[in-house]
Amino acid sequence: MPSTSLPRFLKMQAIKDSNVDFAVKGGGHATNPGFSSTRGIQISMSRFNKLAHVSNGETGELTVGAGCVFDEIYKFVRPMGYNVVGGGGSVGIGGWMTGGGFSLKTNQYGLGIDNLLQARVVLPNGSTVLTASASSNTELFWAIKGGGNNFGIVTEFVLRSHKQRGNGNVYGGLLTYDKARIERVKKAIIEFIDKKDPKATIVAAFRVYRNHGVQEYKFTVLAFYDDEFIFQQTNPFEKFLAIPHEGRLANSAYTTLDTAKSLLYNHISTKSTITLLKEDDYHLMSFPSAHIAGLSIMNGRARWGNVMVSKYTKNLIDVVQEEAEAARSLMDKYNGKMIVTDVWPFLSGMFDNSVDSAWPHKRGEPNGPLLLYFLWEGEENDKVWVDQMKTALGHISRIALAEGCTTATTPQYGNTSLNMDTPDQLTQIYGTANLQRLRVLRRRYDEFNVMGRTGGFRIPLAMGFEEYQ
Ligand SMILES: Cc1cc2nc3c(=O)[nH]c(=O)nc-3n(C[C@H](O)[C@H](O)[C@H](O)COP(=O)(O)OP(=O)(O)OC[C@H]3O[C@@H](n4cnc5c(N)ncnc54)[C@H](O)[C@@H]3O)c2cc1C
Repeated sequence: MPSTSLPRFLKMQAIKDSNVDFAVKGGGHATNPGFSSTRGIQISMSRFNKLAHVSNGETGELTVGAGCVFDEIYKFVRPMGYNVVGGGGSVGIGGWMTGGGFSLKTNQYGLGIDNLLQARVVLPNGSTVLTASASSNTELFWAIKGGGNNFGIVTEFVLRSHKQRGNGNVYGGLLTYDKARIERVKKAIIEFIDKKDPKATIVAAFRVYRNHGVQEYKFTVLAFYDDEFIFQQTNPFEKFLAIPHEGRLANSAYTTLDTAKSLLYNHISTKSTITLLKEDDYHLMSFPSAHIAGLSIMNGRARWGNVMVSKYTKNLIDVVQEEAEAARSLMDKYNGKMIVTDVWPFLSGMFDNSVDSAWPHKRGEPNGPLLLYFLWEGEENDKVWVDQMKTALGHISRIALAEGCTTATTPQYGNTSLNMDTPDQLTQIYGTANLQRLRVLRRRYDEFNVMGRTGGFRIPLAMGFEEYQ
């Protein structure tokens, strides 16, 4: 792995010594403009792509180059009988991990950062490389677990891997329902949540595609069971299977199912620098059509947005549907291509194994992203769509508050946050105490504010006299 090679250091040194803006790009999946794209110098991590695994019983240690995307990671660990807490197949580990990392395995093992054992970080001075872990450079380790790209560039992560049950297989797939079935599926979701099986997860979504001017409205349920399904046992998704649908659930290698998950987020970045295609990235083959995928034909523009919720109620799911339909009504006039509003329920014990990290996620305080993803064409339509997302998120937040599904102080998840310019954004993500600690650490690790010239959620340096308790 070339992480300590001289030319790279020189490049970082040159950036540090100039005033040029720059960006660090992992998988390129952030949709907030400027987070990993730039008009200055872009440092792409794609060649930091080595992987190594050490098995050790129920868990193992997986070393991952910071330029890897999850498809590569899953394919690598699977033959060894292990798996990791990871994201969608095409997502880069760099941004996913440094932002927190929600996974289909989160109900069992927590977030990505709860399974991070070590990271190698090139500090913003361009000449110091530190290994951070629970026993070495511990404050830096704490800071990069959710602190984003504020503390330098991570070149390598070491993750705890978990033995994959079910002979390396999981059970699941993507079920698609017509609009007429939506009420029945919503009822099945509420019943599913009540079952509280940590191995069984769903991500449901209201989706509208507009292709060649024709809209298609579907409701999908991604079902994921973290084990093989044996015929004699009760199917955790039986209620969903009982409703007429397209698609099927099956035992399969984790990576195959993950491709189905990628479909959920069928997305295009707002920027031209995105690297989706890798040699064998079959994720792209799952796109329904080249028009939706934006391959060569479409100049897609898209944004994520989220409301963080601890649980779902029927009223909350209703409003998620309502907002998909409200956005749908704008698609023809403002060249909308895809509207996705998600229902991704987690269990109340999701953070039972959480470790202290810059992104606050405490035992007994469950908190997962209710996601919106809108995709459209034409820069002239940006404002309409971003405003529509703000309206939708505001409405969903109000209902979530009224239903007791969120609180005014629930931490926001930066990785899929729409907002990037509100004054209290950093406090909303980190909380007052963690933000202050991060500011002090910023001063320690980046005294010349080099990372201040990159995009992302910028944590300001503490003044010289400021400390944290
Ligand atoms: C298809 C899709 C599926 C998704 N699924 C999930 C999911 O299951 N769970 C979830 O939690 N989120 C998910 N997300 C959101 C995802 O976590 C964020 O988009 C994340 O930022 C992507 O990381 P990246 O490296 O691909 O992005 P990039 O755009 O490359 O990077 C995002 C940010 O991280 C910084 N960064 C990247 N690499 C490094 C590095 N090595 N060192 C320092 N900083 C770095 C960049 O500078 C940038 O600010 C998904 C997004 C998409 C588009």
